[in-house]
Amino acid sequence: HKYVYDFAEGNKDQKDLLGGKGANLAEMTNLGLPVPPGFTITTEACKAYLATGEEPAGLADQISARVGALEAAMGRKLGDPEDPLLVSVRSGAKFSMPGMMETVLNVGLNDRSVVGLSAQAGGNDRFAWDSYRRLIQMFGKTVCDVPGEEFEHALDDAKRAKGTTNDLDLDADDLRGLVDAYKKIFSKHTGREFPQDPREQLDLAIKAVFESWNAERAVIYRRQERIPADLGTAVNVVAMVFGNLGADSGTGVAFTRDPASGAQGIYGDYLANAQGEDVVAGIRNTVPLQELERIDKKSYDELLDYMARLEGHYKDLCDIEFTIERGKLWMLQTRVGKRTAAAAFVIAGQLVDEGLIDLDEALHRVNGAQLAQLMFPRFKLDHEFQPVAKGIGASPGAAVGKVVFTSARAVELAGEGEQVILVRRETNPDDLNGMIAAQGILTSRGGKTSHAAVVARGMGKTCVSGADELDIDIPGRKFTVAGQTVREGDVVSIDGTTGKVYLGEVPVMPSEVVQYFEGELDPEQTDDALVKAVHRIMTHADAKRRLAVRTNADTGADAARARRFGGEGIGLCRTEHMFLGDRRELVEKLILARTDDERDSALAALLPLQRADFEEIFREMDGLPVTVRLIDPPLHEFLPPLEQLAVNVAVAQERGEDVAKEEALLAAVRRMHEENPMLGLRGVRLGLVIPGLFAMQVRAIAEAAVTVTRAGAVAKPEIMVPLVGAVQELETVRAEAEKIIAEVVGDSGVEVLIGTMIEVPRAALTAGQIAEAAQFFSFGTNDLTQMAWGFSRDDVEGAFFWRYLELGIFGISPFESIDREGVGRLVRIAVEEGRAARPGLKLGVCGEHGGDPESVHFFHEVGLDYVSCSPFRVPVARLEAGRAAV
Ligand code: ADP
Ligand code: MG
Ligand code: MG
Repeated sequence: HKYVYDFAEGNKDQKDLLGGKGANLAEMTNLGLPVPPGFTITTEACKAYLATGEEPAGLADQISARVGALEAAMGRKLGDPEDPLLVSVRSGAKFSMPGMMETVLNVGLNDRSVVGLSAQAGGNDRFAWDSYRRLIQMFGKTVCDVPGEEFEHALDDAKRAKGTTNDLDLDADDLRGLVDAYKKIFSKHTGREFPQDPREQLDLAIKAVFESWNAERAVIYRRQERIPADLGTAVNVVAMVFGNLGADSGTGVAFTRDPASGAQGIYGDYLANAQGEDVVAGIRNTVPLQELERIDKKSYDELLDYMARLEGHYKDLCDIEFTIERGKLWMLQTRVGKRTAAAAFVIAGQLVDEGLIDLDEALHRVNGAQLAQLMFPRFKLDHEFQPVAKGIGASPGAAVGKVVFTSARAVELAGEGEQVILVRRETNPDDLNGMIAAQGILTSRGGKTSHAAVVARGMGKTCVSGADELDIDIPGRKFTVAGQTVREGDVVSIDGTTGKVYLGEVPVMPSEVVQYFEGELDPEQTDDALVKAVHRIMTHADAKRRLAVRTNADTGADAARARRFGGEGIGLCRTEHMFLGDRRELVEKLILARTDDERDSALAALLPLQRADFEEIFREMDGLPVTVRLIDPPLHEFLPPLEQLAVNVAVAQERGEDVAKEEALLAAVRRMHEENPMLGLRGVRLGLVIPGLFAMQVRAIAEAAVTVTRAGAVAKPEIMVPLVGAVQELETVRAEAEKIIAEVVGDSGVEVLIGTMIEVPRAALTAGQIAEAAQFFSFGTNDLTQMAWGFSRDDVEGAFFWRYLELGIFGISPFESIDREGVGRLVRIAVEEGRAARPGLKLGVCGEHGGDPESVHFFHEVGLDYVSCSPFRVPVARLEAGRAAV
């Protein structure tokens, strides 16, 4: 079995086998770009190792063969005391994943070869010992779990002894001393000496990469990003090149377009005389990539040329890591770069203009989650708010929250429902949980490519990085800026687009994308590149999608907004809120009615109120279908809580007041008390038990439709009966409803459809029968999920879903994204049997899943006619329906 591939053997489409980094190193190698030679150990080797705890047979020999070839190519041998070959060992899964073992550089150095390395570098002892101490540090920390601070403290001690704060001031002797100190730290924590055998170093590092696949932080990240847990990681072994050989050397990162805004240009950071991680870690301050032109024009021009070639080749934004060793440029990594939601739309539009991709492909390059992010509000600034600091706009958005200084505190306060801003000097993978919990992240160090920036962009969190005016005191839980002290719990506002930081709570306003959807920004007139790109892609999605998108709206105002957002009707108009407020008393009367007369008078009082509600909605939805659900929740929800009522009655009695009315109410509430209200008297059951209730609603709907139609609009009511489990239920309701409709509608031309929700598993399983009596089905996937799983939605999410997610029983809550295998199967059965019984049966979904990107794809696949979701989700559903269709 082949477990090891030379870079020349792979290509960019082999990410599953070679990981993203390995596949792209292979691609660059084959494009003829200057990549240091090396090889990739496959994800299969990792999976085999993780399954058995042992290296798979043959792996060691294949590695030996590849190391031999590498030695021949470089003319150097691993561990050679005279002229050693050094390598880096780099993890690289299919998806880039913070939290896994990073890289170990300079593998191959030991007490003897460090001398050879110095000779290689022209007698540069300082460089050789600096490289060696870095190896022990990285190897100790990432391979052997030695606490990183210990090395940092030793480094600080060495600097203090030298009277400096800059590590460049340490000379060869200082660094040799530091190597001794590091070795002591290493043996103290591991119980063994630092391994001198380069091959052992290599093997241990490879194993550590394999094992890091299951590191806690990696597991958390996968869960959050919904990356499957069984992919495994590849390992790349790459010949070292050195950016720390002097002023004519350096290292940097580059983006072919701005990953924050999508703007074209040259973006990146460069750091002279530095190795690998130094740039990303934000340890020293980098210079903008443009400055490289002045520092080393030849390398700069060459880099620009490669950047253009890579972009043309990948047809997308690429990010790049490079190193210059004494004026020679080396390419160390490229990949299709992460970007903000705004940049995703802008870049997709640009690439269409440049003829690199077509509009269908542009649709694939963006997604509903990104669009949802772009609909977040922005800061509304006036002179009152002056920024106290300006960092780098690392990940856009407007975040307001209480300042916290540690990941743990962020998690804690967020758990109490607080909005927090995590403030750190710089972040590292240990901060991941805090970053997830926070509204935004603020750091005082590091650029657009710092850990904080990269991870925040990936998570869609607002981030301002490198706000270096902030003097942060983590143990003291405070920072000072512009002469003011900000303590834990104080509120700050950060703008991830401009990088500005404000003290206090800045008010927010709708984003330009929302203004566009509201019709307040004309995409033809504006010069906002994002609005133009969104408009173009949305137009294409609308042209391509098969699913219609309706909205869930109970009021005229919601209906109107959804219509502006592109909603093509109402898929769910709930009627229960129409029974609250001042009307509650009428409902009480209805429930307490002892005689037909009492009941009829309560219903008669409710009728005109309901009619007026529907008239408003039909008017707003002129020409579009409106599905009205008959009253659904358990009636006791409209009554006062039992305990409180009992206390009131007792107190009143004590005082000798007349409590006849209250006692009647109390008795009714007692009578109606249910142990499992969600499985009790609700939905169609109510309609069958309380005479006249559904009839009143049907009459109100029909009369409203007639009134609106007579006034010149077109009302298209669809009456939806909730919680049906048997066709007989629906038939009974329908027979009564049809009589009323016929009587009310007369010759007005109004057509009223009668259908049902499919939300009880039995309904899905007997859909063929139910379809005989239903003119449409609408899947109520919230209840269907509750009843299919036997989960009470209101109770389970806080109680134990975290454990289910942790155990991987599901990757995401089934209330958030539809459970295709279980609940989805019920939907599928109902679609097939319903349509078989009644060809052309209209099918939709009105649960919250209607606005969930993943679920929209499922509903497209099973052949529904429409999805319905909250007004703000309508654009997301339109986009995803378009994406599902191309
Ligand atoms: P990450 O995925 O965290 O970026 P990398 O494997 O890319 O980790 O490596 C970390 C840093 O080390 C990067 O800056 C990279 O460019 C640098 N690096 C990796 N391998 C080499 C090498 N062979 N020579 C010089 N620098 C290297
Ligand atoms: Mg990298
Ligand atoms: Mg329901």
